[in-house]
Amino acid sequence: MELEALDELYRDIILDHCKNPRHANHLDHPDLESQGNNPFCGDEISLQVKLSQGRIVEIGFNGRGCSISQASGSIMAGVIEGKSLEEVGELANIFRDLMKGKALLPNESDRLGELEALSGVREFPIRIKCALLGWSILEDGIKKYSSDNGE
Ligand code: ZN
Repeated sequence: MELEALDELYRDIILDHCKNPRHANHLDHPDLESQGNNPFCGDEISLQVKLSQGRIVEIGFNGRGCSISQASGSIMAGVIEGKSLEEVGELANIFRDLMKGKALLPNESDRLGELEALSGVREFPIRIKCALLGWSILEDGIKKYSSDNGE
């Protein structure tokens, strides 16, 4: 997929996140950590999260791979800050629906924020996995955290 195929505004947001990934650091002693890759594209992402009173207060995001996977991971790192794990799960579902081309309810669209910049990716089915990689990794981490903590 060529980034040129995307709407100009969205392309600028994606390029900005590629060049300046948000929360691009490694957290020591995180409450939750997870990593994974997308072998079809060679994308890799690792995440660490610190929680306080059930909310995400610190995020460490590292990765390499294509611009869609890295921009999507960085945008995700930006939007999940301050959110509860439940809210993150809801956002993941909304974003997955967006990628599947499912019509969103107005209150769902309102919650997307910068995630909307990735909406053009759904026209390129092979790259949807790239856009969803960070979210899948985060959800794996949340599942493991919840089972380790008896929730
Ligand atoms: Zn990729």
